[in-house]
Amino acid sequence: ATTSTTARQEASRASSDAGTSPPVLRAFVDGAFVDSAGASWDKLDPVDGSVRARVQEADAALVDRAVRAARAALDGAWGAAPVAQRAALLRRVADRIEERFEQFARAESADTGKPLAQARELDVPRAVANFRAFADTIAAAGQPSFLTDLEGGRQALNYAVRKPLGVVAVIVPWNLPLLLLTWKVAPALACGNTVVVKPSEQTPTSAALLAEVLAESGLPAGAYNVVHGFGPASAGQFLTEHPGVDGVTFTGSSATGSTIMRAVAPRVRPVSFELGGKNAAVVFADADLELTLAGLARSVFANTGQVCLCTERVYVERPVFDEVAAGLADRAGALRLGRPDDPATTTGPLISAEHRAKVLSYYRLADEQGAETLVGGNVPVLGGGLDHGSWIEPTLWTGLTNADRPMREEIFGPCAALVPFDTEDEAVRLAGDTDYGLASAVWTTNLSRGHRVAQRMRVGLSWVNTWFLRDLRSPFGGVGLSGIGREGGAHSLDFYSELTNVCVAL
Ligand code: NAD
Repeated sequence: ATTSTTARQEASRASSDAGTSPPVLRAFVDGAFVDSAGASWDKLDPVDGSVRARVQEADAALVDRAVRAARAALDGAWGAAPVAQRAALLRRVADRIEERFEQFARAESADTGKPLAQARELDVPRAVANFRAFADTIAAAGQPSFLTDLEGGRQALNYAVRKPLGVVAVIVPWNLPLLLLTWKVAPALACGNTVVVKPSEQTPTSAALLAEVLAESGLPAGAYNVVHGFGPASAGQFLTEHPGVDGVTFTGSSATGSTIMRAVAPRVRPVSFELGGKNAAVVFADADLELTLAGLARSVFANTGQVCLCTERVYVERPVFDEVAAGLADRAGALRLGRPDDPATTTGPLISAEHRAKVLSYYRLADEQGAETLVGGNVPVLGGGLDHGSWIEPTLWTGLTNADRPMREEIFGPCAALVPFDTEDEAVRLAGDTDYGLASAVWTTNLSRGHRVAQRMRVGLSWVNTWFLRDLRSPFGGVGLSGIGREGGAHSLDFYSELTNVCVAL
């Protein structure tokens, strides 16, 4: 049997820090939070290992209900909503997230362990911006029409009509949960789609809060649904294999992307994939070293290295190698690990004990492969009740080459290896020697070289003298193992819509 409560009751329970027993998180289907007949799991706090929430896993039947609810909303109120109404709804959602800014920031920080200040600076503002940006994009979107000249002086008129892709499965990871969720939900709704969201099992809370905000903003029931669970043999697999899903937008690891491709292959459904990275920075001897070191440090250590765009390989022109290595090590040493609500904290824990074990295995591998550890390399002893959290030291190596596994595989931790180079061609070759192709950053004061090298990078995002700077209208995505397709501005509309070309003989 299924019981339901209103969105408001549930989300305030989910996001409340008060009370002794952890809140229960449930699926959101057809406009209400519902119980699942499936199992539950404990969502642990990465800061101290305590239980933050009990999350109900959606079983196949509940995922099926969510997809059916999304279909009904697509065939009903939301599918029929005109563009102006959709854009207005997105703007209301942005306003309401701003009204509950602190609630979102605290929920996001609590799920991930990231410093509260960073949730306030990046995650929540970007969620607001995502809704506003795609309200603007859809409101401005038009299609070109053209005339075809026919025999005998007659003509035909061609124009394309934009329609929703349909029921879209949205599967997102744990590193920037709200930012990445809204990056997909906003354009999907802008284009008139309905969605079934599967947030990461590590970070279920903000998707539930967003359900409340969307409902309050007037989104019809069924247009936004949330199912909690894991990947294989759980909500993730049930969703991607569901015949009622018209397309999958996914951010996560390349291995999972590959699995999802296989899941949708029998039904030939479109996918948009934002996957892993093994991103390079290239520092030339003519770089402004103060600017470079500040940017490099951010790109290696931001979010404890858990951003797909983070730098894990740093190629440095030989004359400045020692200076860059020492400067970056100083900055790593100055990072402050601590509780998220301490304003002095710069760096949170990793997301989980499992992820720390993976990152640590690369630290040990680097040792075995003869790397010199400039800084870090271990589990820190922090005391103060943090011993059960998944903390790790920011770490830098020299002495590795592109042949070594820590240089080839995505580690997704606060670590990078520095390698010297002698010529521009060598730098481009080393940076491109990877199966991934998400992002790169070139640091130089030579304008021509900056453009030249940036364009030669085999990546989707190529920065010069900056990192992570994003205009939401620009294309975002990767090549190789880093993904399929581009999202951002009109590029997102291309994925979340189908075009019907109408040809009229005049
Ligand atoms: P993950 O692939 O393990 O999980 C991502 C999501 O997919 C989760 O919700 C998970 O439950 C679900 N999932 C797992 N297996 C599934 C399956 N078989 N079917 C359906 N769903 C399944 O990734 P993660 O560990 O959560 O996130 C880290 C990864 O995400 C890193 O590789 C990182 O680079 C990548 N990432 C990429 C971008 C980008 O924009 N390119 C952004 C952030 C993170």
